[in-house]
Amino acid sequence: MKRVSVFGATGSIGQNTLDLIARNPEAYDVVALTGARNVAQLAADARKVNAQIAVTAEEALLPDLRAALEGSGIEAAAGSAALLEAADRPADWIMSAIVGAAGLAPGFRALRHGTTLALANKESLVTAGPLLLAEAKRHGATILPVDSEHSAVFQALVGEDIAAVERIIITASGGGLRDWPESALASATPEDAGAHPNWDMGHRITIDSASMFNKAMELIETKEFFGIAPEKIETVVHPQSLIHALVGYCDGALMAHLGPPDMRHAIGYALHYPDRAHLPVARLDLAQIATLEFHAPSDSRYPALRIAREVMAAGGAHGCVFNAAKEIALDGFLAGSVGFMDMSAVVAETLDAMSSRASLSNAPQTLEDVLNIDHMARETAQRIIEQRKAKAP
Ligand code: NAD
Ligand code: MG
Repeated sequence: MKRVSVFGATGSIGQNTLDLIARNPEAYDVVALTGARNVAQLAADARKVNAQIAVTAEEALLPDLRAALEGSGIEAAAGSAALLEAADRPADWIMSAIVGAAGLAPGFRALRHGTTLALANKESLVTAGPLLLAEAKRHGATILPVDSEHSAVFQALVGEDIAAVERIIITASGGGLRDWPESALASATPEDAGAHPNWDMGHRITIDSASMFNKAMELIETKEFFGIAPEKIETVVHPQSLIHALVGYCDGALMAHLGPPDMRHAIGYALHYPDRAHLPVARLDLAQIATLEFHAPSDSRYPALRIAREVMAAGGAHGCVFNAAKEIALDGFLAGSVGFMDMSAVVAETLDAMSSRASLSNAPQTLEDVLNIDHMARETAQRIIEQRKAKAP
């Protein structure tokens, strides 16, 4: 039996992961499930897969979680220390699917035990890529990509020499506002941006998809995970979301990965790796699909892509600042205090305001360094939002 834990079990990736696990209960021994506010869901899932322990990030919700688990024999715990303790519990495979930089510390901790970390939490690589990979290496742990584009690249690289890779192309759906005229984007609301044409994902990543901050994060994620030069990484808008990524080799061949827009493919690939196993995802009917479209993303429409290029070129701790500022700008957008097109301005201004710090040019050496920079960047972004509000007519 494979011992598995799911961090962020109550979210979109977490639920898809549990779907695969619950289909084959005799194959898995579920160790820990974690969530945040949705303790009823967390408890129901913990009962369903008979987990050892359920952990909520919210300390105040421990009594509710305890009550919901009453009589089940499943342990309940709460808070950030409990999340780390859950990451210390021996497991063969751990899904990292907490949203945001909050997912970094538990995943980082799990690596210490030489586990296989299925990494959906792209923020971990954007904020602390080199540190995370070094920690995995030090402890003989394995990190497998779960972001669909990165799983696709990973699969297109099997049996190949990375030195023969000329370019990596990750595709972008264009998100919920892709058919809006550019002039209308400034007035888009969270509701407008929160509907995705192809993928069913968490609320935050769906909005990041409309602003292309998600793709911007994924460019950085590609650089960090595959160790590929930024100029070899491209993105193209592909409205059908059927090709997830392509790897171009030095002989001109392009290996494309196709599949339905269903995260259970990437999750299942990581779950069964290095084997392939049957997965309950739709099979593509190419004749019915008939057409695959591609076009270059517009720079003015998606400033996040340009900022990501600058972040990759600057290296060091810029990715950490980028991610933190993006999370604060998105919080502001969701709260109605930052416009849709102003999110990129907040991120760019935060990077500008912090770039004079000498400490940013070096990659953070410890998790504490990362968390300090993340904290400073959040404060700076928040201050920039307040200043912009004060200046607004
Ligand atoms: P989601 O919002 O649906 O779920 C997030 C999970 O994290 C929930 O279990 C929630 O309870 C938990 N959580 C939230 N805040 C927390 C905190 N402060 N501390 C601890 N736990 C917390 O998000 P999602 O769409 O499932 O995305 C999860 C991660 O996977 C993100 O990093 C996202 O970028 C990445 N990802 C998601 C998809 C997708 O299809 N949804 C695809 C690729 C990558
Ligand atoms: Mg993706």
